[in-house]
Amino acid sequence: MRSELYIDGKWRPSSDGRTFDVVNPATEEVIHRIAAATAEDVDLAVKAARRAFDRDGWPKLSGAQRAKYLRAIAEGIRARQAEIARLEVIDNGKPFPEADWDVADAAGCFDFYAGLAEQLDNNPEEPIALPDARFTSKAVKEPIGVVGAIIPWNYPLLMAAWKVAPALAAGCTVVLKPAEVTSLTALELAAIADDVGLPAGVLNVVTGAGSVAGQAIIDHRQVDKLAFTGSGPVGSKIMAAAARDIKRISLELGGKSPFVVFDDADIDEAVEWIMFGIFWNQGQVCSATSRVLVQEGNYDRLLSRLVEETKKIRIGNGLEDGVLLGPLVSKRQHQQVVAAIEAAKAAGATVACGGKRPEGFETGYYLEPTVLTDVPLESDAWREEIFGPVVSIRTFSTEEEAIELANDSRFGLAAAVMSRDDRRAERVAAAFRAGIVWINCSQPTFTEAPWGGYKESGIGRELGRWGLDNYLETKQITRFATGEKWGWYIK
Ligand code: NAP
Ligand code: MG
Repeated sequence: MRSELYIDGKWRPSSDGRTFDVVNPATEEVIHRIAAATAEDVDLAVKAARRAFDRDGWPKLSGAQRAKYLRAIAEGIRARQAEIARLEVIDNGKPFPEADWDVADAAGCFDFYAGLAEQLDNNPEEPIALPDARFTSKAVKEPIGVVGAIIPWNYPLLMAAWKVAPALAAGCTVVLKPAEVTSLTALELAAIADDVGLPAGVLNVVTGAGSVAGQAIIDHRQVDKLAFTGSGPVGSKIMAAAARDIKRISLELGGKSPFVVFDDADIDEAVEWIMFGIFWNQGQVCSATSRVLVQEGNYDRLLSRLVEETKKIRIGNGLEDGVLLGPLVSKRQHQQVVAAIEAAKAAGATVACGGKRPEGFETGYYLEPTVLTDVPLESDAWREEIFGPVVSIRTFSTEEEAIELANDSRFGLAAAVMSRDDRRAERVAAAFRAGIVWINCSQPTFTEAPWGGYKESGIGRELGRWGLDNYLETKQITRFATGEKWGWYIK
């Protein structure tokens, strides 16, 4: 396990020697200590990224040359897949198969953007037809510059990949800050980048607190773009900080995503996707479908099946075989989710199952998967993100009512609909005010498809070609192509 900052191609302690603890959420044990970056360390990292961008030529390499590094990073991740997945489990708490899948997906993300980097060479210039034959014009894409990437703790390595891979593909250089509670795998990513010979300063990793290291990144004058995934309140701070010097931003924030199940849906299929949609990754998923709307005719049977199956979910240490639900990521997160359940009860909600620490789990940040009914429409439980294994479920009668309830939210990240009637499913999908819509499923995510939210769920799109555009500026180059006089001054 790495314990130092990775700045300008070198490992170093923080400037004041301070560290923070790494806690395994399954055991509550301190398993490691990592350097806590200061504003001074962040300044060194930004300056190294600046040099790599302005002087050392990372953006001047061809896309194909950058692609070689990205592919080597992908291979480096795969070569250590099980080991890195294990680090993710002891740091984040998620079940090993989910961590293993995340790590494979992170490698795939580097491969995907290697392909897009190569395409930048094939089609670098877009000719523009002008109405005046004396001029020619073209549009070219260029990297934005130095990127400050700040990521959350729910998919530590994968969120790093979603930002670092397209940024490097575009020709940007990066200062990455992982969340304090899950910093181990971001440091492994730096180690892999170092092993494959990524030039110094192209990727820097500064671990430490959001209020110190994160704040220093967003306030830094020499950072051109901020790429953030996390909570709405910190997203607002980032937007405000970016306003001062017009930094580019992309924000991936939270959600309270609806899942609409019609009477014609198969109950077993619906229950499987509802459970996956809220209980995978312990419900700590920005796109989790945490508000379930079930048409009246199906409601009673569906609810009883959902409760019956939810009670069978195997809880435990993510390293044990067959575990589907690990501990929440931290003590703080556990307290917040428990408080949200208590507030829901106080507001009149009924706990159909779960809602407390499971029996036999005195240590570890464990929580039973929880189904809430009778949740008032105006309560926080219905409106605010809980970010834990807690689903609220209620009925609707008509398609119009379902759409109205689904869209009645300040968020708009994701939405899902289940129906055997394809035309109805397409109608509802079109009516959802959300950036990600699933039909007859919830959560499957592909590197090729755009990811991001409407409304307060964010700005910009990650993944796919949209993810690359996040890190590119567009420049027009217009040429006066004849030797004729212009005739404004010299007649
Ligand atoms: P968070 O508190 O917003 O933290 C996200 C990151 O921002 C962390 O690295 C954090 O550092 C850092 N940070 C905190 N204060 C900062 C500041 N003043 N300046 C700069 N950086 C600062 O969110 P979280 O609790 O880690 O993650 C949960 C939230 O993320 C949920 O609301 C969820 O919906 C959202 N999320 C969204 C997506 C998506 O794709 N839309 C994906 C995952 C998560 P420290 O934590 O180290 O202090
Ligand atoms: Mg941890």
